[in-house]
Amino acid sequence: MEQGIVLKGKDIVELMKIDMKDDLLILDKAGIKPCLAVIMVGDDPSAVAYVRMVERRANQDGLEVKILLYDEDISEQYLCDVVHKLNTDDAIHGILIQMPLPQHIDKKKIKDIIHPTKDVDGFHVVNAGRLYMGEQGLYPCTPYGIIHMLNYANIDIQGKHAVVIGRSLVVGRPIAMLLLEQNATVSICHSKTENLSSITKQADILIAAAGKKHMVTSDMVKKGAIVIDVGIHVTENGITGDVDFDDVVNVASQITPVPGGVGTTTLATLSWNTIKAAIAAIHDKINA
Ligand code: NAD
Repeated sequence: MEQGIVLKGKDIVELMKIDMKDDLLILDKAGIKPCLAVIMVGDDPSAVAYVRMVERRANQDGLEVKILLYDEDISEQYLCDVVHKLNTDDAIHGILIQMPLPQHIDKKKIKDIIHPTKDVDGFHVVNAGRLYMGEQGLYPCTPYGIIHMLNYANIDIQGKHAVVIGRSLVVGRPIAMLLLEQNATVSICHSKTENLSSITKQADILIAAAGKKHMVTSDMVKKGAIVIDVGIHVTENGITGDVDFDDVVNVASQITPVPGGVGTTTLATLSWNTIKAAIAAIHDKINA
């Protein structure tokens, strides 16, 4: 049986890097090194591992990373003050607040005080609004990374039926908006959707972001569809996704692996957003 092409995140990142290089040259000429500040509270092992991955990727992409570590008993006010300081620090272009935060800290409040121009995670209501309005802004890294994946792989989006499984603010909704912006016909499915497979079977592009291990099987996928697996599940055999890869690879024309797919483009898009934020800061200064 002919198998689908595996869309590897690292191949896409190599192409993204070529375009990031142009912006890095502009920044270099202006004497600027794009810098991402990462705030981390406590020492949750998976958060520590993720921050190390962010740092490695960002450094490889030519960025500086400042990791600010705080004890679990930090007050909400102190953390707000830290974010305010970063907001006004010209040497910082992007701010990432690593989850989890301790219970006594209102995570929405902290995220909302990040200045939208430094909100490289793309979750600020201003950036969400810009995405909704089809305006330039900083878009969430996972969905925007999927768009990079599709665009750099020269996958046609216009006029195609894209089906998104999941409606979270982190993945489902923003990827639906981004696909719509690229003229796809978009269906959004969620936990209350009836006859899910009758909808997924219509997909030219299927985005699986339900957070349910191996829930997408070959009988849910149209022959020749592009399948993007966002899911991350840690099992005793390693990390796997929402798609039963070994099964679906037999019907998909192109498919992302887990690991090595969307997770990889997510990290590179964090670098991308930080570089774009640094470029925008130059323009803001010129126009001020
Ligand atoms: P979430 O739990 O916030 O949202 C899941 C969505 O899926 C919900 O909207 C829900 O309605 C829908 N859903 C759940 N079960 C369903 C079902 N049986 N049928 C149809 N829809 C269903 O999760 P999330 O934050 O959007 O993350 C989704 C997955 O993506 C998780 O596995 C998460 O770990 C992973 N993730 C990966 C990355 C990455 O960089 N690769 C980034 C973010 C999230």
